[in-house]
Amino acid sequence: MTKKNFSFTLEATKGKMRAGVIKTQRGEIKTPMFMPVGTLATVKSLDTKDIKDLQAPIILANTYHLYLRPGMERLQAMGGVHKFMGWNKPMLTDSGGFQVFSLGRQQLHSRAKKKSEKDELVAQNKLAAKNKFALLNELALNNRIDGLNKAGYSTKFDTAPQKQPKQIIRSLGVKITEEGAEFVSHLDGSKHFFSPEISIEIQRQIGADIIMALDECVADSESKEYVKKSIDRTHRWAKRCYDYWLKNKKQSVYGDYQALFGIIQGAMYEDLRKESAEFISSLDFDGIAVGGETTGYNMSGTREMMGWIEKILPANKPRYAMGLGRDPQDLLDAVSVGFDMFDCVGPTRLARNGALYYGQLVEKNGKPEFESEYKNGRLNIGNQKFFIDEKVIQEGCDCYTCENGYSRGYLNHLYRTKELAYYRLASIHNVRFMVRLAENLRIMILNAQETEEP
Ligand SMILES: [Zn+2]
Repeated sequence: MTKKNFSFTLEATKGKMRAGVIKTQRGEIKTPMFMPVGTLATVKSLDTKDIKDLQAPIILANTYHLYLRPGMERLQAMGGVHKFMGWNKPMLTDSGGFQVFSLGRQQLHSRAKKKSEKDELVAQNKLAAKNKFALLNELALNNRIDGLNKAGYSTKFDTAPQKQPKQIIRSLGVKITEEGAEFVSHLDGSKHFFSPEISIEIQRQIGADIIMALDECVADSESKEYVKKSIDRTHRWAKRCYDYWLKNKKQSVYGDYQALFGIIQGAMYEDLRKESAEFISSLDFDGIAVGGETTGYNMSGTREMMGWIEKILPANKPRYAMGLGRDPQDLLDAVSVGFDMFDCVGPTRLARNGALYYGQLVEKNGKPEFESEYKNGRLNIGNQKFFIDEKVIQEGCDCYTCENGYSRGYLNHLYRTKELAYYRLASIHNVRFMVRLAENLRIMILNAQETEEP
């Protein structure tokens, strides 16, 4: 067995908030922490030096996307993902499950906020799904799906900085059996199959430091009967991932230790979430994650759900909320109920849309609060009011963009002319903002611990 090169130490707590440190062979990750998303082995518009400079301790890449492009043969020939992208710090890969079940079934990225608008979109998309090619065409045309066109290359950037529901529709383009999930590529419609063993094997070939068990990401709208069946299968898949991981000595094909995390599902059914939390906690995973449609999207649902399971989770393992961290407040909410790790495409996607974070963490009555003069804690840099504004995005921000004096007026000009430099400068600010927010939450927890000591 490869020497275990992974540990988590809980350093301090304040209420349910936790500060800890994860040690991996490629470096330490202090928690709470925020992981930028590098879907295709790149955090959009940033290179590895940028990511290091903004002090992200770890990044996430997507198994589904890397499996399709560049593909495992190429990635292995290039020595794995770290070498491939020139990133020698920790990395996490998801299992591919979320994309299989959301892109395969079609992920609705709409501007709809009202239920009626969403229902209409669901109906429209069901119609489109009657023809696979029509569906794929629509997926391709709707380049909000990860900014890809039919050929799989990025096209224009999103223009609507609004909350995009990660709404999931079952039974479109994906076939789930006990063995695994058959799905069609969102790029060319080719058929593929992921089983728990295949997902882990692909992640062994990618070579990340933390890998995830394959799960079914269930929609909140599913019946209790379906969700019960689904979590039972997700649990059997978790065990199969666990066994396959043990069989392969918990290591990547390059011989490095890989930590495996299990994932709790159960939609918005309290008893099923608890059941799932108990099962996943019963296996000796290195960490525990929560997934699902709710997580990170519907934050009142997320807080409620986290509250149900928090007591069940082992204190000595890192807790990861998948896909959470779009708004600064989301991070505070999840840290407040005892979670440690977060990732989200939100900061980079919002940056490209012209939405830049603004505000600060304050402590009120011993509790963290996020204060901002802008709605949702972000300003819209494309706004006319920034035409002649010499101020940086946020005074006192330690990101490269703000420290080097790039003004709102200049960024407004770059954004409106779609100059490429804009995407980098804006992404740097937003990602650093979330990484720093996690750092500041950590400091708050550690300081509280000190003052509580006699
Ligand atoms: Zn900044």
